[in-house]
Formats: sequence, C-alpha cells, structure tokens
Amino acid sequence: MIKAKKSLGQNFLIDKNILEKIVNITDIKDKNILEIGPGTGNLTSYILKKNPKKMYVIEKDDELIDLLNNDFKDKIEIIHRDILEVNENTISENKLIVFGNLPYNISTEILCKWILNLKNDNYWFTDLVLMFQKEVADRIISRIDTKNYSRLTILSNWRLNIKKICEIKPSSFSPRPKIDSVLLHFVPKKKFHLLDNPKNLETITRTFFEHRRKMIKKPFNKLFNGNKEIIKKLNLDLDLRPQNINIETYLKLTSEYENLLC
Ligand code: SAH
Repeated sequence: MIKAKKSLGQNFLIDKNILEKIVNITDIKDKNILEIGPGTGNLTSYILKKNPKKMYVIEKDDELIDLLNNDFKDKIEIIHRDILEVNENTISENKLIVFGNLPYNISTEILCKWILNLKNDNYWFTDLVLMFQKEVADRIISRIDTKNYSRLTILSNWRLNIKKICEIKPSSFSPRPKIDSVLLHFVPKKKFHLLDNPKNLETITRTFFEHRRKMIKKPFNKLFNGNKEIIKKLNLDLDLRPQNINIETYLKLTSEYENLLC
C-alpha cells in the first residue's frame, strides 16, 4: 500500500465517474499521450483502455516508479523526472495530448512555463487537460471587468482556447484535499498576436497589475514615459484600472513596448 506524500502533493483521483469523464474529453484512440504525475496509475489505466498509440508518463516519486513499472511495464514509457526540469519540446516528435493531475502549485508554474516557451509556428501538444485548485482556475477563465481578471487570464488566453470541464469535490480524491478543484481543457489557438518575446507580455502585465485598484496611468508612464502617440493609437483611457483593459490591448501594448526596445 502506497502512503501518499504531502510534499509531492499526492491526492489520488479515485472517483470512477470523473476518471471516465476525463478520458472522454477528447479522442484518445491511436493518439500519443503524455500523463504528468500518474501517481498510482488510476487515470493511466483509464487512458490505456482507450487504446492510445503511445503513452508517456512523467513521475518524480521513486516509490511510484517501481509500482508503475510493475503494473504497466511494456504498455507505457516511464520518464522518472521532475516535470519542471523537462524540456517539453523534446518529449516526443509527435504531438501529444497531455493529462495532468499535478500538485496545485506546480500546475500554475507548468502552465506559465509551457506558454512562455511556445514556438510561434508550432505547438508540441494538441490538448492539455489539467487540474487546478478552483481559485486558480477561476483566474484562468475569468472575464474582463471582474476581480479574477489577472495576469494569468491574459497569458493563458493569448495562445489557448480554454474550456471548463467540471468542478471536482475533495471526496473524489484520496486523501481528500482541503479545497475544490476544477478541470480545464486547453486547445492551441491557430491565430494569435505575434510577439518577439513572450517575456515582454509578462513584464507588461506584471507592471500593470502591480496595483490592481489603482489607475493604469502610473504603470503606463513608467513603461512608456507618457508616450501620447501610443495612448492615441490604442485609444487608451489612463483612468481605467488594470482589470478594465482587454487582452488585445495588453498584447498591443506589449508590441509597442517591443518596438521601443529595438
Ligand atoms: N494523477 C494521479 C496522481 C495525482 S497526485 C491521480 O490522479 O491519481 C500528483 C502526482 O504528481 C503524484 O504522483 C506526485 O508524485 C506527482 N508529482 C508531484 N510533483 C511532481 C513533479 N515535480 N514532477 C513530476 N511528478 C510530480
């Protein structure tokens, strides 16, 4: 019997209805799959029943690696590594459908890392199906003019179409987490605003959202030195708050910022 490790955020999904739902979100048959944090292999079994072409799993825990080797040898390729240290572009030559019920703090970090590292002309995945703590999912899928609208909303929606699949209660896991979870499905956007370097979008949104309740006048002046042409071109109202500025405008601001840099 495996004892769940708190340090690795181990909350194993045990709810059969949810497991069934996850593997029916997108067509798995004959596709290449990556599961991150397979744990004891609950979701892994459900995915394998759908006959994928090839399945990779990335797991950090030594003890679970032994168990996975025992239960799934020959059926999956086990990568014994920390997902944060894996270069996602080199996992497979084929595009992947990615499933992940990872520790909550890592989900956000991974999503941001993956978006920031995306190439302009190519995605290494076709789908991401990831679990988040509800509070973070609410920020990812929030709308303009609401309190959850944030840097994470802008970054995620820049390159991805996002759908909320369902909320998942603590009772679906063992051991039970203290918070509600939400499963999100991300699909690459074919058309998106091109940037020289996505890190600049991070800089822009970090500066603008530093004081959410204050007008954007100060951050704008800090980054653009009060440039009147940009205000006019983007039709910016500097009396607005960061949560009132749409994603497209943040992207245009980033392009203007990039123009100033070169
Ligand atoms: N997907 C399984 C397990 C979820 S628990 C299920 O739903 O039942 C989270 C899993 O992520 C654990 O197996 C844990 O060991 C693994 N994990 C935690 N941090 C990790 C990291 N940095 N890299 C890879 N796996 C990690």
